[in-house]
Amino acid sequence: MLRSISSDGTSGSWERNAPASMARGARAMKMKSQATQVKTDAPASSSAGGKKRVYLLSEGNKDMKMVLGGKGANLCEMTKLTLPVPPAFIITTETCLEYFEEGTGDLPAALDYEFALKAIEEDTGKKFGDPLNPLLVSVRSGAPASMPGMMDTVLNLGLNDEIVEGIIKTTGNERFAYDTYRRFLNMYSDVVMDLDKEPFEEVITSIKKRKGIKLDLEMEAADWKEVVGEFKKLNPNVPSDPREQLRGAILAVFRSWNNDRAIRYRSYNNIPDEWGTAVSVQAMAYGNMNDGCGTGVAFSRNPSTGENKFFGEFLPNAAGEDVVAGIRTPQPLEEMATKWPGVYEELYKYQEQLEKYYCDMQDIEFTVENGRLYMLQCRNGKRTAKAAVKIAVDMVKEGALTEAEALLRIPANQMDFFLHPTLDPTAQKTKIGVGLPASPGAATGKIVFTPDDAEVMANMGEEVILVRKETTPEDIHGMKSAEGVLTALGGMTSHAAVVARGMGKCCVSGCTAAEVNAKNKVLKLGDVELKEHDVITIDGSTGEVYLGTVERRSAAEDEDFQTVLGWADKMRKLKVLTNADTPDQAAQARKLGAQGIGLCRSEHMFFEPERISSMRAMIVAEGKGERLQHLETLSVFQREDISGILKEMDGLPVTVRLLDPPLHEFLPHSPDEMQSLADTLGKPFSVVKDRVKQLKEVNPMLGFRGCRLSVVYPEITEMQARAVARAAAANKKAGLDPKPEIMVPVVSSAKELRLIVPRIVAAVKEELDKAGVDVKIPIGTMLELPRACETADQIVGTDDVDFISFGTNDLTQTVWGFSRDDAIRFIGRYQEQGLLDFDPFARIDEEGVGGLINMAIEKARTKQPETKVGICGEHGGEPNSVQYFHSSKFDYVSCSPFRVPIARISAGQAAAVEVSAQDKLYRESITNVKRAPK
Ligand code: PEP
Ligand code: MG
Repeated sequence: MLRSISSDGTSGSWERNAPASMARGARAMKMKSQATQVKTDAPASSSAGGKKRVYLLSEGNKDMKMVLGGKGANLCEMTKLTLPVPPAFIITTETCLEYFEEGTGDLPAALDYEFALKAIEEDTGKKFGDPLNPLLVSVRSGAPASMPGMMDTVLNLGLNDEIVEGIIKTTGNERFAYDTYRRFLNMYSDVVMDLDKEPFEEVITSIKKRKGIKLDLEMEAADWKEVVGEFKKLNPNVPSDPREQLRGAILAVFRSWNNDRAIRYRSYNNIPDEWGTAVSVQAMAYGNMNDGCGTGVAFSRNPSTGENKFFGEFLPNAAGEDVVAGIRTPQPLEEMATKWPGVYEELYKYQEQLEKYYCDMQDIEFTVENGRLYMLQCRNGKRTAKAAVKIAVDMVKEGALTEAEALLRIPANQMDFFLHPTLDPTAQKTKIGVGLPASPGAATGKIVFTPDDAEVMANMGEEVILVRKETTPEDIHGMKSAEGVLTALGGMTSHAAVVARGMGKCCVSGCTAAEVNAKNKVLKLGDVELKEHDVITIDGSTGEVYLGTVERRSAAEDEDFQTVLGWADKMRKLKVLTNADTPDQAAQARKLGAQGIGLCRSEHMFFEPERISSMRAMIVAEGKGERLQHLETLSVFQREDISGILKEMDGLPVTVRLLDPPLHEFLPHSPDEMQSLADTLGKPFSVVKDRVKQLKEVNPMLGFRGCRLSVVYPEITEMQARAVARAAAANKKAGLDPKPEIMVPVVSSAKELRLIVPRIVAAVKEELDKAGVDVKIPIGTMLELPRACETADQIVGTDDVDFISFGTNDLTQTVWGFSRDDAIRFIGRYQEQGLLDFDPFARIDEEGVGGLINMAIEKARTKQPETKVGICGEHGGEPNSVQYFHSSKFDYVSCSPFRVPIARISAGQAAAVEVSAQDKLYRESITNVKRAPK
């Protein structure tokens, strides 16, 4: 269905642009105060109980998305701009919540939309339910944030056996009347009454077969009439009273807020369950009446490349749902310019006007009814990462946006596109098909034919390409799990294209030569027959499909992307450091703009096969003497790696964290491994086995790890401190500018630090004195346990503690009491049931974990205002979390190398929000807009 699945940049940009506090506020207020804040002069009948539940398009505006949904708010705005919008009314999101609260299964008792229906009747000169001059309406969902295709829509509502005759009389078009009626019966049975679609489709297929035709367009009036008769036999229970139909459809849209796919989509996209959906009831405009009608989707700029060129597709003599269903191939808009120059010109003017008005690329849905253009929707268009960056840079060059405004339009979480491989143009490849370049990037993987298979395989660590005839909202989890998506049907505005683009996932759609047999799990492309798990490569930038694996290479330098990063760097207050454990990673991160290392997990230096045996030997050592001996070997590895890292990060801070993981992670587990260690040590197998048993922990994550190792084995910490100091001294002597720091992990009390820090200071001093160099090596600690946060003042008050870095992985684990290793088993279920809006290990939980963090910062800064505050958990590269760290006045975030550019942009956006007053985003172009010619 065109309307229900179409793209919407609004959600992305709204989510992005809206301060997090707004989302929190909406949840807390459950929308109530927002709805009542809006002043209107609506009739009392629409506002029983002091609440206004129904808005005419003249009563709302674009800023009322929380109340009217994104679609409703923009319909109001277009009406205000005097664009030709079919008259409509919007039932508020709050009414949807009221429906769930009342729980009667019926519409809220206080909801009254009769006055609004009357207004539509007056506007159109038609009457709802009147066979002589019938008004038909669409009933659509519309949440504050876009949820493409997740909720329900019913079109052509208001028909019955008598009224269809009226349609024939008023339009003189019997074929159209019965086509419309069958569409209505089909949709109502499916959406409102939840009947299986299959038998309905079979009716049409069998008539087509009998007549030897393939296309809907070839069906005649009598055929559709026959279809209607059959549909009524399949479902005799569609109410014939139009008002009853309307009630049923509104209820179905409300209910669809809580269907499985909507819940899943919300949880993937961090959309709060408490928002609810608005419902728009709008006079139908028909694109399928005759050859003077049509329908289409247009973008004010190319959503794939960003090129500043009006772009889109249309289908003559078709209803909206036909475009997206991929049944017929839409024509490029240029052909519309030839066919209907006047309509094209008008549409061109509106897209220009809307883009200027919203200061953003617009995605427009329109219908042409007998040569008259109707605007059905406008919104900020979803776009590829490449297009987002190009559009932002172009709009700044055009003077349409300031740098701060443009930066806020960048979907930070899609910037992976610039950071990941594309196909190597020189690689050998065997092309087996070509489709549409729906979403750029390149992916190789084993083919799977169902979304569930994609999910299962991806969970097993396999890279897969999801191959479908076409995708539907039910496929989302599979698309998310897959490396790329290949579909046989669908244009550039099809579900697969729109959703993959939104996800920043590589997609080739409309590969019409592909014969997809999902049942037998076979894909045929010309002569090539592929089975499930055969490997293919797809290129979403060219639409090409290749056999097997094709060499890929790193993302090409993109000048526009560098420009955007430059804006972010100019604006941001947060420093962006990286988590890197090797010189290679450090070099990579520095290239990507890291301003140092905020976390070097020193234990990662011992995972190499030749090193792990020394580590194991040290752990199972039976006394200090033996341990020191192995520590000496480890010290050499450590010094070499740290030295290499310092060199790569010359002049920038490098925070080396003391050993953290539970020792048991290093222990040999299998008898073979134990035997091999026993052989290396020249000890009996039984001794090693007993020692391993002794060290085994029931709950290692809360066990012998972090600074607890320093407390029990001070010699380990001493070795590490010396290794850092020696590495620094060597670099200094080589004429470089090393800036190492030492960080103590898993601290729960200042007392631990009072014991450990002086040992570090002494060891460092001794080594530096010995080397005769002067390097300042600040010492800090991680706050990753609730107790450490509670006592942050004491911690920063400890002598020689210069900085704190929040370890939000462990902090999330310990605040929630969710094991970071095992919680994945239930977090999905929590999200599905609305207990969690997002995975707190991926995005910072501002309420709980964040509350503790803020308290700790306040305590720390009150005690020691100069204390440097950072974060080095995985949240350091997650856009929403970075915004939060900015607002909590962190000094830096530290994240994995490839997330550094994303963190830079997110940090820039956090600062840009402050510089760019939101209302500047909307220009005053409204004043010189003329009404569309009738
Ligand atoms: C943390 O806990 O957030 C952290 C960075 O440390 P690790 O993930 O190594 O436990
Ligand atoms: Mg940790």
